Amino acid sequence: MSDQIVYAGIDIGGTNIKFGLFDSEGKILFKEQRPTMAEKGPTPLMHLVTNIAERLMYFAAEENYPVKWVGVGSPGAVDHKTGKVIGPCPNIEGWRGMEIGAIMNDRLNMPVFVDNEVNAMALAEARFGAAIGARSVVCVTVGTGVGGAVIIDGKVVHGFSSSAGELGHMTIDVNGPKCACGNNGCIEALCSSQTIIGNTKRLLKKELTPIFNDLLDGSIGNLTAKKVFTAARKGDEIANQVVVEAATYLGVGLAGIVNLLNPEVVVIGGGITDGGAGFVETVTREIKRRAFDSAVEKLTVAKAALGNDAGFMGAGLLGDVKK
Ligand SMILES: [Zn+2]
Repeated sequence: MSDQIVYAGIDIGGTNIKFGLFDSEGKILFKEQRPTMAEKGPTPLMHLVTNIAERLMYFAAEENYPVKWVGVGSPGAVDHKTGKVIGPCPNIEGWRGMEIGAIMNDRLNMPVFVDNEVNAMALAEARFGAAIGARSVVCVTVGTGVGGAVIIDGKVVHGFSSSAGELGHMTIDVNGPKCACGNNGCIEALCSSQTIIGNTKRLLKKELTPIFNDLLDGSIGNLTAKKVFTAARKGDEIANQVVVEAATYLGVGLAGIVNLLNPEVVVIGGGITDGGAGFVETVTREIKRRAFDSAVEKLTVAKAALGNDAGFMGAGLLGDVKK
């Protein structure tokens, strides 16, 4: 172990902060999570993150783990050169503008690398997960929002001002529903969990189908995206229609991305993909149907493999990429 490197990563989520240590084979040596408590404000949250990093370093020292830097994944666009949050973070009020890199570097007296959480996740999936060994990877996460990341030749594409990869906000339907970003018909507005819930409610307006009636104890107020997927798996036609529509829109968007970037692997992650019901299969079919043959012949479309560990593991890898 002593001649090996040990990675330390912290993943700041809207609900939980996940953190841990792992080796170069991807073996997790330690992991834990704490509630983010975003409602307490950005300064207490920054204290918590710094405190977690110090505890990780202290633990690594006790175990003689050779940790050389700390990596942090954060929501929002991040200037990866300075470690400052430069984009809005709807789940953590006041987080935009936080100088994560500078503050932690000062406190820990060691290198600190910071990047967007989906960029980090993509790195982890490319190193240890669904896109293992691939040099060109597009990663999309579908949940309350739709996040994206692009890796080309083993490096995260940050763009000119650290804002690249936001494929959730590609317009698919100019006359489509309003998106949280202010535009209309973005991928996010057409296939997020909120959209899936909204579309199901609209179609169930007259009355609940027997399957939904069972699942929701007779009340539409109990509807969640997870229940829509459960209903689809049980054969409910409305649920199926909603899931297929969302997956189709995502596939349409990703087909364009595949034509543009010709990745080796497209990784689909986020809460929605756990629902099953053929979501990932429909996305795959649409990509392969719509993108150029030369771009899809050897393309792999895969479900994310690392689950909740991808964020902190990818964060830990950030320094490796920088070297
Ligand atoms: Zn949008």
